[in-house]
Amino acid sequence: MQRAILLDRDGTILVERHYLADPAGVELLPGAAEGLRGLARLGPLVVVTNQSGLARGYFDRATLEAIHAEMRRQLAAHGVELAAIEVCPHHPDDGCACRKPRPGLALRAAARLGFDPVRAIVIGDKACDVGLGRAIGATTILVRTGYGAREEAARTCRPHLVADDLREAAELALAWDRAAAALPLPAAGPDAPGEVPA
Ligand SMILES: [Mg+2]
Ligand SMILES: [Zn+2]
Repeated sequence: MQRAILLDRDGTILVERHYLADPAGVELLPGAAEGLRGLARLGPLVVVTNQSGLARGYFDRATLEAIHAEMRRQLAAHGVELAAIEVCPHHPDDGCACRKPRPGLALRAAARLGFDPVRAIVIGDKACDVGLGRAIGATTILVRTGYGAREEAARTCRPHLVADDLREAAELALAWDRAAAALPLPAAGPDAPGEVPA
């Protein structure tokens, strides 16, 4: 398992609710399930999400688990399964190593699931998502859902690609993967036959 798809939650998969604190507020964005089905062909789907509402006392762990169970239930109805959900529960002032754009969540997931962070595709609606992707050397896609259009207009970050939503992000990622696979390059890695020098 070399590649994984790292996804922001709010404004990327789910409708942005500004501190979602109720499973009844879980609503998939248009095209999200379809996009995730496509992206799943490239690697396991891992959600990486800042949830400072925990540290702020806006909701507790049990509520967060219920929200994630509801999100998984809705995605499963569309044939989408998440490999993992990695949460930063800290306050911005805590100085933790896992609040995006810091790379902690992605590195923890990479260690658990055994993927190469550099080959990951990071998708989100905020500069901190793109920042996380840049921090681990991944390919980054900004989606215009949630805060994404605003971030794009304000030029807060430099993503590799910009997509209207997860559906288009999947199209771009799959097209890019096909193009890369078609390149006449020797396979990388220690087991690949080396090129004979001229
Ligand atoms: Mg977001
Ligand atoms: Zn954290």
